[in-house]
Amino acid sequence: MIEFYGRKLNAYKASLHTHSTNSDGRFTPEKVIEMYKEHGYDVLAFTDHRFVTRIGELDGKGLTLIQSLEMHPIGPRGIHWHLVALNVSDDYVYDESIGAQGVVDYAVADGAMVICAHPYWCGFTSEEVASLKNLSAIEVYNTSTRYIGRQFNMQLWDELSDKGLVYPATAVDDMHSPHDLFRGWTVIAAEDNSAPSVMNALKQGHFYATMGPEFTKLSFKDNVFEASFTPCKEVIGLTNPSRGFCIEVEDKEGYGMGSIIRTECRIEIPPLPGKERWFRLQIKDEAGRYAWTAPIVIPPQQ
Ligand SMILES: [Zn+2]
Ligand SMILES: [Zn+2]
Repeated sequence: MIEFYGRKLNAYKASLHTHSTNSDGRFTPEKVIEMYKEHGYDVLAFTDHRFVTRIGELDGKGLTLIQSLEMHPIGPRGIHWHLVALNVSDDYVYDESIGAQGVVDYAVADGAMVICAHPYWCGFTSEEVASLKNLSAIEVYNTSTRYIGRQFNMQLWDELSDKGLVYPATAVDDMHSPHDLFRGWTVIAAEDNSAPSVMNALKQGHFYATMGPEFTKLSFKDNVFEASFTPCKEVIGLTNPSRGFCIEVEDKEGYGMGSIIRTECRIEIPPLPGKERWFRLQIKDEAGRYAWTAPIVIPPQQ
């Protein structure tokens, strides 16, 4: 369970970017389902490259399967986009020659939500990601791209928020082989684990990204943000203008960042005069694993 901005909802552990032998993954879809099920996941999306893995032909073994794929239309400077489309129809056929924006719009018209996968690994700037409209989220963490140290997309994410494109973020394994397994996932706050309920929550941005830490409460009321979470040594609130709140600096003993293990925080975030404000919380546990809330948007001061 999670207390999610005033509602008590179920928290479902999801793998939203996963490959199988239907593209360049090591494991069959059946084996992938078995492994993620055994590891406590509730939701799984197969996102094979340019290939829709038909979920109707699979036994989810209790997992909620979301029919999906990863699309690769050409982008700026000749670099291919990696765009995860969640929830495509059975007869989904698309054409990359119509260009990236056309591909995104076509998927959205089909009922999908499109997530910008590992932009830092691709080599895109925030400016280039901002040029693509109709996206629903970006990946803040992607396990499979850590082999060249490009697994994090925090800076790019915040730059998008600064441009007024305030997206929620997912964390994913982008699993191709065993060393990608179970390091980043997305927790969806939904009424139940049916596919429509899960997709509805995803489209509304009711989720957070994590490598381990869990949020049990998120709340924002009367300009006060409150959160409860599993023990973490680093608790940072990020916002615009470009400076973060760091909860640890309030530490009166002056031991500094990371000296206290915390399980909750309370931060006042006044609105900005004449300008929209975004705010997100980022926490890190003793093992160095992060979790990230989706940014909230605070309307300008009247
Ligand atoms: Zn990719
Ligand atoms: Zn992928």
